[in-house]
Amino acid sequence: MKQSVKMIVGNWKMNGVSASLDEARALQAALQVGPAAVRVALCPPATLIAPMASAFGQATSNAAVVEIGGQDCHPATKGAFTGSISADMLRDAGARLVILGHSERRAGFGETDTDVAAKVEAALTAGLEPIICIGETLEQRKAGAAIAVVQAQIAGSLPQALVGRAFAVAYEPVWAIGTGLTPTLEQIAEVHAAIREAMVGTLGETAATTPILYGGSVNPGNARKILGVEDVGGALVGGASLKAADFISIVRAV
Ligand code: PEP
Repeated sequence: MKQSVKMIVGNWKMNGVSASLDEARALQAALQVGPAAVRVALCPPATLIAPMASAFGQATSNAAVVEIGGQDCHPATKGAFTGSISADMLRDAGARLVILGHSERRAGFGETDTDVAAKVEAALTAGLEPIICIGETLEQRKAGAAIAVVQAQIAGSLPQALVGRAFAVAYEPVWAIGTGLTPTLEQIAEVHAAIREAMVGTLGETAATTPILYGGSVNPGNARKILGVEDVGGALVGGASLKAADFISIVRAV
């Protein structure tokens, strides 16, 4: 069922300077996996989008094409928003994707579902493919509310503008991000099934094949099992995407 080409997306967060480009090029050369088997993307800090898009635009024939994405965008196209970056600017720099609604933005910058939905609309207008992050906190999981939380986030963060458009959802339990903790495979399967149901409920059958990525402490040791769970369409990888060898292992686990 569902889509067969899995996506592995690296989120570098606020890590990486121009010296990282050499490692990024080595990573490109090492990814001899064939473009049909897996979609690989890296989301570096905004300052590296243009040079990485340029470096990865020159893929050799059998190396995987590495797509480049941003980590956030402003909902407006331009204006007096000091320090922000628009979806058009990301696109102009060479990005094809953008991570939106990451829990670090929701918790640290007070982003609501409504804010995320506005950013998603801006991204779509700019021609970017949004990766929309959702996930429960530890308190919410302990209270038995994980499913209700992600379903509410789906209803609030996914605008109707997504109907018929390419995008992905990333299920990232907040308590699993950067902690080394992961849900059980059964818990991942249960939440992914609930997300699928909510997505189809919100957007209709168009969302029946939209990839649902898992994110939260994915590493070379657990990637194969997690990627084998029913309806896990790939992984959003934070810490392990900063080490080329680890990221390559995760891509090869597909
Ligand atoms: C993330 O922040 O999106 C993430 C998945 O981080 P990590 O892999 O480090 O848990």
